[in-house]
Amino acid sequence: MSDHYAVIGSPIGHSKSPLIHGAFATATNQDLEYTAIEAPLDGFAAAVHAFRANGGRGLNVTAPFKLQAFELATDKLERAQLAGAANALKFERDRIFADNFDGVGLVNDIQRNLSVALKGKRVLLLGAGGAARGALLPFLAERPAELAIANRTVEKAQELARAVGAGSRIVGCGYRDIAGSFDIIVNATSASLKGELPPIAPDVFATDALAYELVYGKGLTPFLRLAQNAGVKRLADGVGMLVEQAAEAFAWWRGVRPQTRTLIDKLTVSLT
Ligand code: NDP
Repeated sequence: MSDHYAVIGSPIGHSKSPLIHGAFATATNQDLEYTAIEAPLDGFAAAVHAFRANGGRGLNVTAPFKLQAFELATDKLERAQLAGAANALKFERDRIFADNFDGVGLVNDIQRNLSVALKGKRVLLLGAGGAARGALLPFLAERPAELAIANRTVEKAQELARAVGAGSRIVGCGYRDIAGSFDIIVNATSASLKGELPPIAPDVFATDALAYELVYGKGLTPFLRLAQNAGVKRLADGVGMLVEQAAEAFAWWRGVRPQTRTLIDKLTVSLT
């Protein structure tokens, strides 16, 4: 019988994870089945336990269950701990391991696929939700010159900056207090899902900046349009991050890391 994995969320119909992991399994000759589970909003833990009881080996976790997945785990890896959220679970005997690959997926997409190094750069992270939290340790590991976190709820950005405690290299602030221009600007808010834009000025984008939108498949979002109008040439959405975080989870579960390029190209939507 094939090993069983799944993505769990609510709603889940839109998820590209079954397609991505199915392609990874074929490409790496892994005998596994990957499905999608829509759990009731008040029934996440029960759905996870039922999946485990039926022999399930691991889950990708998406909105709105990343915090609950973290709580449910018996063993929480460091990135998940800082994020306070898990986007992948692995089941071994009576243990539930939790990790968070969103941040490492984002870093891999920026550095490997887009060929933009984080080292020595001024980085601006918009948002202080789960995705921004998950990005922090992987970003800091690459030693940017500065990392500014700006958020609508200012205290959350400040708290996050304090939590990583990396001294003067990291600041948390509100949008109106963003100072100067940045080489890499990442929109880790969910504003674009509603066609909205965090209130940032066009001069946050340095010459030759990379503007990266976590939301994917929506074309030119208000954030990317602002960047483009400010003269930014390097625009990206989160499709590469999506595929890269999936590859990390796949490697964690199966011990083999799939190639990502073909799949990213296949799923990419034009940003013009
Ligand atoms: P959360 O709900 O945890 O956080 C949402 C963040 O967006 C908060 O910082 C919130 O600010 C901010 N926000 C929401 N609306 C607005 C607005 N109108 N103006 C300014 N700020 C706003 O979400 P996640 O962190 O989990 O996800 C963020 C986005 O990243 C989502 O759109 C998600 O689709 C995307 N994502 C993409 C992934 C990928 O693989 N490409 C992976 C994970 C997430 P406040 O704190 O003030 O409420």
